Amino acid sequence: MTDIVSPFPDLDDQFVRALPELTLAWEPQTVPAPAMLALNQKLAEELGLDPDALQSPEGVAFLSGAATPAGANPVAMGYAGHQFGNYSPRLGDGRAALLGELTDTAGNRVDLQLKGSGRTLFSRGGDGKASVGPMLREFLFAEAMHALGIPTTRALAVVTTGEPVMRQSPEPGAVLTRTAASHLRVGSFEYAVRMEDKSVLVRLADLAIDRHYPALADSEEPYLGLLEAVRDAQAELVSSWMLIGFIHGVLNTDNVLISGETIDYGPCAFMDRFDQATVFSSIDHAGRYAFGNQPSITLWNLTRLAETLIPLIDEDADAAVEKVNNVLDGYGAKFMASWHSGMRSKLGLASATEGDEALFDQLLGLLQTNRVDFTSAFRALAAWLRDSPEPLDLLFADADVAERDTWLDAWTAALDAAGSSADRATVADGMDLVNPIYIARNHLVDEALRAAESGDTEPFHELLDVLLQPFTKRAGLERFAQPAPDDFNRSFQTFCGT
Ligand code: AMP
Ligand code: MG
Repeated sequence: MTDIVSPFPDLDDQFVRALPELTLAWEPQTVPAPAMLALNQKLAEELGLDPDALQSPEGVAFLSGAATPAGANPVAMGYAGHQFGNYSPRLGDGRAALLGELTDTAGNRVDLQLKGSGRTLFSRGGDGKASVGPMLREFLFAEAMHALGIPTTRALAVVTTGEPVMRQSPEPGAVLTRTAASHLRVGSFEYAVRMEDKSVLVRLADLAIDRHYPALADSEEPYLGLLEAVRDAQAELVSSWMLIGFIHGVLNTDNVLISGETIDYGPCAFMDRFDQATVFSSIDHAGRYAFGNQPSITLWNLTRLAETLIPLIDEDADAAVEKVNNVLDGYGAKFMASWHSGMRSKLGLASATEGDEALFDQLLGLLQTNRVDFTSAFRALAAWLRDSPEPLDLLFADADVAERDTWLDAWTAALDAAGSSADRATVADGMDLVNPIYIARNHLVDEALRAAESGDTEPFHELLDVLLQPFTKRAGLERFAQPAPDDFNRSFQTFCGT
């Protein structure tokens, strides 16, 4: 390799130094014709990277996995995981490479990872590669989630490789560059336990504390504190999904980050018509990861994390189990508190009041019974407060209006009881700040990715632009606020690891 200047300043290898047992060396892949497809200029700047350098031939070579940044120590990370409830002792980065960590302009340490960058020693039968559609899909969802204010891994760039990737049919190959607060997962802990060397687990827990919950380092029970901190971060995260109609789709323990960021945008989707049982993933036949199951499955995943931490928490195993159970027992209340607070904001309620929880449940019941578009409903409620009942009437066109109006009466009474502004337009404006008008609806994403796969990235960039300002109504974008045509979502399916 020629001696070229890296567009990535000072990539550190803290993870490799702390936990060599959880890594395998990674080698660059051969890439026939790397080219930039999508670059996140703003994120590049936040990371302290020069967008022009990233677009130079050297930059594109790094981003395609064809060259290693000077001084970097790239690795495939090892992890295990429970997939649909079944334990896989050895998963790991089968098509990803951790290039290293950099410090962003805010002073935070950030992982820089390639996805689709070729085979690793964890690849098993896989080809280690990725294609344009799924990588742009991850770019779109990650940045849409970020714009919605939801913790997430980010997408820095997607480059094409110039090489066809064999899926159902040949597809254009691509590599995604992703950043994350870290890639430490519940599955990392499950893998560390397998090492049968307690020091690995201790070092992993210490690294997680150092990177994500540093205040715990000097606490009396740091590892119990770690479990509690991850519990809270995950409770907040899943609550933010539930408030926005997001279905992750593959909540295996290897896709649950210790930092509390959303990761893995393979089979995810936003729900249009409200239905707790909504599933889009082609392989989730039993609905394990259905919309309404996400809070309970997150507790299940946290329980897997808790099991790994038991040896660190108390030498007396019974005492450790009791402590851990106490923490897990607190999950439900934590989730509900977060969700209730979010629902209050969505409905313009300035404070908690007696009976507001029943109000939330009744609303969801109404939406479910009448299969109302979840996202539009909250914008329509705000419009109704502004004396524009038409959007709400349209959404409830086939509904029992008496039932709906009883709920509206209860809501307005709650607004008064909560001390929300008597000026209803002000309340409505506040609601619009937290209820998106534009989300990554399945038919829009599908349309943009199909075009990109046939070489036209214009619709992708247009949709991305819309999703980067999800709360601001803009003229000419009416189409992007509409739910899918009626039968679209009935047959729509999403896929893992393509
Ligand atoms: P995911 O469904 O992306 O969470 O991946 C689950 C596991 O399968 C991880 O260990 C991935 O690295 C691995 N994997 C997914 N796709 C591929 C691929 N094309 N080649 C090798 N490994 C893969
Ligand atoms: Mg994954």
